[in-house]
Amino acid sequence: MSLLTVQHLHKAFGGNQAVNDVSFNLQAGELLALIGPNGAGKSTTFNLLNGQLTPDSGSITLDGVSLLGRQPHELWHMGVSRTFQIAQTFATLTVAENVQMALLSADGQSFSPWRRATHYRRDAVLQLLAQVQLDAQANRACSALAYGDVKRLELAMALANQPRLLLMDEPTAGMAPDERHALMALTRSLVNQRGVAVLFTEHSMDVVFAHADRVLVMARGALIAQGTPTQVQSDPHVQAVYFGMGHAEVTP
Ligand code: ADP
Ligand code: MG
Repeated sequence: MSLLTVQHLHKAFGGNQAVNDVSFNLQAGELLALIGPNGAGKSTTFNLLNGQLTPDSGSITLDGVSLLGRQPHELWHMGVSRTFQIAQTFATLTVAENVQMALLSADGQSFSPWRRATHYRRDAVLQLLAQVQLDAQANRACSALAYGDVKRLELAMALANQPRLLLMDEPTAGMAPDERHALMALTRSLVNQRGVAVLFTEHSMDVVFAHADRVLVMARGALIAQGTPTQVQSDPHVQAVYFGMGHAEVTP
């Protein structure tokens, strides 16, 4: 059985079908990319999965358990972690303290931003930071980090939850090409080590084809292709959407 099963997902904003009958599966240990041009419905699909939006119809199950109607914090406790297109960290805290906040939350402890948690699970913190190659920067203020490092910190925070499913919305947005590949290679190694399932949305194709096991392609709300990078790359609908070779027939 798949870890994540999405069936016939629909979401409209007014008359605009942002997500139109989208179905797919995701296995543990799989790195699945969701690509498509701007406005294709990637972020909306992502937000339906992470509980920010509720679908008009369709089903989403994790290990057979429905995720519908659950708030993001509830999903987090079920083992669904996410990172954001705009990195979300506490700028005034250190790198280590940010991970401690995530660990406190994962452990079901309430935390107060004004009561610092400097000593909380220090070994676990350093282990997580080592996994994203940030251990040398543990005591720096988050606000002093380079953008690529903030994205890696965010990944460490997402992993604090020991997720079964990790959702990443445009993890490489705003990064230089080298950094993009480094972050995806890191994600790839974490997927292999931990057996976590990852779904990531991505704007550019080169990152996807280099690192994803499988690719979903959306255009105008519909899933127009899915398969291995090689299969998707040679799909005429995908070529039409990306390279403007005629008009893709985007039918639900
Ligand atoms: P992508 O992430 O692929 O660029 P989105 O999922 O953000 O695409 O958007 C898909 C479509 O839904 C677009 O036409 C967009 O304008 C529309 N849309 C997205 N979010 C909202 C919203 N909160 N309210 C109204 N329309 C939205
Ligand atoms: Mg988007």
